[in-house]
Amino acid sequence: MEKLELIKGCAKTLKLNNLSANASTIIENADVNDLSYQDLLLDILKSEVNLKEKKAQERLLKNAGFPIIKRIEDFDLNFQKSITPRQINRLLELEWIDRMFNLIFLGPPGVGKTHLAIAMGLKAVEAGYRVSFVSMDNLMHVLKTQDISRKIKGKVNSILSSSLVIIDELGYLPINKEEANLFFQLISALHEQASIIITSNKGFEDWTELLGDDALTTAVLDRLVHKCELFNMTGKSYRLEHRQSIF
Ligand code: ADP
Ligand code: MG
Repeated sequence: MEKLELIKGCAKTLKLNNLSANASTIIENADVNDLSYQDLLLDILKSEVNLKEKKAQERLLKNAGFPIIKRIEDFDLNFQKSITPRQINRLLELEWIDRMFNLIFLGPPGVGKTHLAIAMGLKAVEAGYRVSFVSMDNLMHVLKTQDISRKIKGKVNSILSSSLVIIDELGYLPINKEEANLFFQLISALHEQASIIITSNKGFEDWTELLGDDALTTAVLDRLVHKCELFNMTGKSYRLEHRQSIF
């Protein structure tokens, strides 16, 4: 009994959380199943590794800030033909993140831009990458207010240290000069440090008007498009086609 408490105490100090919580069950199981010392030790260590990986995964998912969970398995490629199964499979290998390629999904509302962006982000999280998802609107807010709140500064730092930054809905809301400059600075900071996914309802030809400055838009596009896959998503709105009715 006393030894069990000592084991638990040591496990706690070493942050072996599974052992500290389940020491007696682990020992009982080992007795019942007549485990060798080697198997027992391996079981204990493996459980700790699994628990740590699970916790790290949960942290990554929470930090990513997805507004909703969307999976690639639920994306109907027969409905959205602008992207092929082959392209999707290639993207799912996530090699583009290691090579710091950007993805840009352009197209009208409802064609699946945000769904694809989140689904890719989720796969990246599952593979252990740091991901940040922000709407353009929220991004502008955090960039503008980062100096007045430590929490927001933390959010900015988390974006800057991500391997994949997803910026959703560029173009829905107008952007002023200060915001356009902050956006340019962020893209510059992330350029060749991280992958960026941008979704937008506006084609590149409209970005100058959106960002309000020709030279700045060229500089932004230059950095984004340097290593980039562009998907022009066309077709009908999935929402409208699958409109639900209460009657
Ligand atoms: P967008 O960002 O292009 O406006 P969303 O990705 O938000 O569109 O898609 C709108 C809704 O339709 C979401 O609920 C999304 O999951 C769903 N959706 C869109 N395209 C597809 C698709 N090809 N297969 C399955 N669901 C889709
Ligand atoms: Mg969207």
